Amino acid sequence: MPSASGRQPQLVCASANPDKVREIEQILAGLVELRPRPADVPDVDETADSLVGNARLKAEAIRDATSMAAVADDTGLFVEALPGELGVRTARYAADQRSHATDPYGANRAKLLRALANVDDDRGRRARFVTVVLVAYPDGTELFVEGECTGTIATGERGERGFGFDPLFVPDDGDGRTFAEMSDDEKNSLSHRARAFAALAEALRD
Ligand code: IMP
Repeated sequence: MPSASGRQPQLVCASANPDKVREIEQILAGLVELRPRPADVPDVDETADSLVGNARLKAEAIRDATSMAAVADDTGLFVEALPGELGVRTARYAADQRSHATDPYGANRAKLLRALANVDDDRGRRARFVTVVLVAYPDGTELFVEGECTGTIATGERGERGFGFDPLFVPDDGDGRTFAEMSDDEKNSLSHRARAFAALAEALRD
């Protein structure tokens, strides 16, 4: 919501990932001025037991360092046949990630394919990405919203684009391709993160 002076409110972005920042900028364009994450603020350990908790840790660290409102997001992949295994721990799913330091995403995908190797019923391969976006304001108040994308885990990797589990995730609202087979615009038209930031834009307009 524009301030009384007509200037857009400013939000410092806790993410420094250029792909994410570009996507967030597009969605919030005209509503808020997104400021870059200060380079000298160290990453926080994501030790909370929920997506909201981790988004809060990240947003509050940037708010406290800048004394400005800060926005952070946290995402988890929830797989029907593997309750409690990914979710809030999605980024750290493969226990041996350190030995795959050059390709932690690949290690995560390989582990997921192995875990689902004997799951051939459609239900067990059902999955959803959930993104929580949280704004921490300097007065201690906060605002958070959620976005979700349901789909299926493919039996093998398909596509070269995107990151993380994109080569394995077939969204329900697509045409059978994985996220990694889609253009950025196609993925952003239905992804969990785009939906969460669209919900934030809606909340900020109110
Ligand atoms: P983060 O909270 O955005 O860092 O996401 C946590 C983990 O979820 C990442 O390390 C990825 O493995 C996975 N992930 C998040 N968003 C996506 C996505 O859009 N596509 C594929 N994997 C994702």
